[in-house]
Amino acid sequence: MDSNAKRGKPGDFSVAQRPAASGKGSTGALALQRAAYAMSVHDARELPRPGVPELAFAGRSNAGKSSAINTLTGRTRLAFVSKTPGRTQLINFFSLGEGAFLVDLPGYGYAGVPGEVRRHWQMLVGDYIASRESLAAVVVVMDARHPLMPLDRQLIGWLREARRPAHLLLTKSDNLSRQAAQRTLAKVRAEAASLCPGATVQLFSSLKGEGIDEAARTLARLAADKNKAPPKGE
Ligand code: GDP
Repeated sequence: MDSNAKRGKPGDFSVAQRPAASGKGSTGALALQRAAYAMSVHDARELPRPGVPELAFAGRSNAGKSSAINTLTGRTRLAFVSKTPGRTQLINFFSLGEGAFLVDLPGYGYAGVPGEVRRHWQMLVGDYIASRESLAAVVVVMDARHPLMPLDRQLIGWLREARRPAHLLLTKSDNLSRQAAQRTLAKVRAEAASLCPGATVQLFSSLKGEGIDEAARTLARLAADKNKAPPKGE
């Protein structure tokens, strides 16, 4: 049993109660359920040679990113295996069969993190977003109760600058009433249209299993779009 399981990590939602993203049809060729840890890098120079489309997840610490990755892949602890408290910052790669990588970018906004660590995050993630050839899209994970915080906006600004497709995942939607969740969705969609034109936005709940198919379909589309697109710079 690993340490997360021992602590009974609250984000460790049981996937046995509900299906993960359904495979055929909705996810196309994206093998989310076959996600397997591949590697971690601490420095942009250690990145593997660009290849299959990379679908990256980024978000403030505690936004629900690890839970979302685990929920989408139908695994209980895939992302927690590599979770660190904001000091060791790694980009973690998970292969999705042979067709794509799911990339877990280090979280941001940890309280009490030294400036040196923040600068490392900016360099590592900034470089990855600005110049990674095989990056297909970035999923920006935000707590639906506190969307578009300053660091989220900074990240979205980078995505806009680099012309990266962005998908905004408003997590823990179960914490809001249905009406409040719809209001938040409409508000974030309206703001996203000016912050990062073309960005898509959805509600998501790992706890209730809401939004799984929508997210899986979007990821499959973004990976397919990347395969169709000419290499960056052409
Ligand atoms: P990360 O730091 O972004 O990877 O966030 P985690 O996935 O570890 O989640 C942070 C906290 O939010 C944990 O206490 C989770 O139990 C909780 N959480 C994550 N997803 C949900 C959700 O869909 N609903 C609710 N109510 N809580 C959630």
